[in-house]
Amino acid sequence: MTTADTKFANDNLSADRAATLTALKERFGSRYADSFSLREQHGHTTTWIPNQPPDAVIFPESTDEVVEIVNLCRKSRTPIIPFGVGTSLEGHLNAPSGGVCLDFARMKRVLAVNADDMDCQVEPGITRKELESHLRDTGLFFPVDPGADATLGGMAATRASGTMAVRYGTMRELVLSLTVVMADGSVVRTGRRARKSSAGYDLTHLMVGSEGTLGIITGLTLRLFGIPETILSAVCPFKTLDGACRTVASAIQLGLGLARIELLDPLSIKAVNAYSKLSLPEVPTLFLEFHGTRAGTQEQVEIFKELAAAEGGGPLDWAEKPEERNKLWQARHDLYWAGLGLRPGAKAFVTDVCVPLSRLAECVDETYRDIEKAGFIAPVVGHVGDGNFHVMVLVDMESAEEIAKVDAFNDRVVERALKMGGTCTGEHGVGTGKMKFLGKEHGTGVAVMVAIKKALDPDNLLNPGKIVALP
Ligand SMILES: Cc1cc2nc3c(=O)[nH]c(=O)nc-3n(C[C@H](O)[C@H](O)[C@H](O)COP(=O)(O)OP(=O)(O)OC[C@H]3O[C@@H](n4cnc5c(N)ncnc54)[C@H](O)[C@@H]3O)c2cc1C
Repeated sequence: MTTADTKFANDNLSADRAATLTALKERFGSRYADSFSLREQHGHTTTWIPNQPPDAVIFPESTDEVVEIVNLCRKSRTPIIPFGVGTSLEGHLNAPSGGVCLDFARMKRVLAVNADDMDCQVEPGITRKELESHLRDTGLFFPVDPGADATLGGMAATRASGTMAVRYGTMRELVLSLTVVMADGSVVRTGRRARKSSAGYDLTHLMVGSEGTLGIITGLTLRLFGIPETILSAVCPFKTLDGACRTVASAIQLGLGLARIELLDPLSIKAVNAYSKLSLPEVPTLFLEFHGTRAGTQEQVEIFKELAAAEGGGPLDWAEKPEERNKLWQARHDLYWAGLGLRPGAKAFVTDVCVPLSRLAECVDETYRDIEKAGFIAPVVGHVGDGNFHVMVLVDMESAEEIAKVDAFNDRVVERALKMGGTCTGEHGVGTGKMKFLGKEHGTGVAVMVAIKKALDPDNLLNPGKIVALP
């Protein structure tokens, strides 16, 4: 459905749903909005998938309010779609059956920072940068850093990761516990603050990555880390992509404690040079970061230099001052926007596969040849320490032919990764865009997912039409 088709999607609402919306409007007043532009903003995210707006957007302020909304919506089977800041990339927030979107912009509080235990409790609408500034004076930090300034609720819901996952883990490892409003209106706390537990089914990890389809997250307990004594950032140019990938595999196999190891291909470097005013040589390049003691990081740098030299890489150019390091990593994080500048007016179709490390060089190489053959303008970038890489294909969204060509390319990228023992999505999640690959990836596991969805959300209220299709 196109934006124009959905403009008046809520004109034909059933009487029950219309009554629910009226009740919600009376209850939430100015925190209920149904203007077309706001609905459109909430049904169209950073994605190539066409917009499908919800019927209304509500801004809850507490878990109790979310319970009230769920109980009201259940009576008329009105879908509920939780919303962070809308940076997901696979149509996660589309409202194919309308419904209400819950925007957590008014639930941003940090409820506790337990410095001795190195954990914190937050509401779902806080963004990663807001949490970072809150923690600034504590000597602690939260390491999951998707390129966008996403919310912690959205990040838990998509099982997000980022540049530091190679050292500190993804949201899967770093969420200790969640408060979740279930489809029946009950409130569940999925865990405690203990670092480990064997107490029953692991509800925390069932909810992490469930993309708002099994429950609505209203609170998170997160692990924190101490800011290391020394942080060294560096860039290392290579003659070939293959050499860069092989160096990554050797560094990880050797147990080198790299905190970040990101690959940018020559086109990505061209884009960041122009956008972030850098002057890096336009060759395959690794962006690196070493965390530890002064002596430890120096030793890591020396070992890395040797590994890189053996694969045609170097010299290493590093930055220790916080402002220089920040400039480098901000440039990496801005790559999406930088990339758009390579083809003004185009949109990005971003692939997201992850393969076992030993297959990374081969997978990147085959994908690169595929890009060349297709003639795309498509920077390649990767969290390669985890075997995860993205191709950002720049597409003219007015051209159905181009879109079909890129879609077929995406299928090939996924097929290739699956054949190599990898996954169709390393970090962006399924949304609607990756649903078609789940059967191939999980086989009979998909039936288990459907059974879980049906058991926890029998009326298909929560973010319907995502991850698994219900009949
Ligand atoms: C430039 C750019 C760079 C990116 N880089 C990365 C990256 O490096 N790593 C990475 O992992 N991702 C990356 N992404 C993707 C995106 O940022 C992540 O998927 C992020 O976790 C989404 O968070 P959000 O707050 O925007 O959530 P939204 O997009 O608003 O929502 C995402 C999903 O989570 C659900 N959801 C949101 N809040 C809740 C809640 N409180 N309870 C239950 N469900 C909820 C929604 O229903 C939806 O299904 C990038 C995106 C962009 C645009």
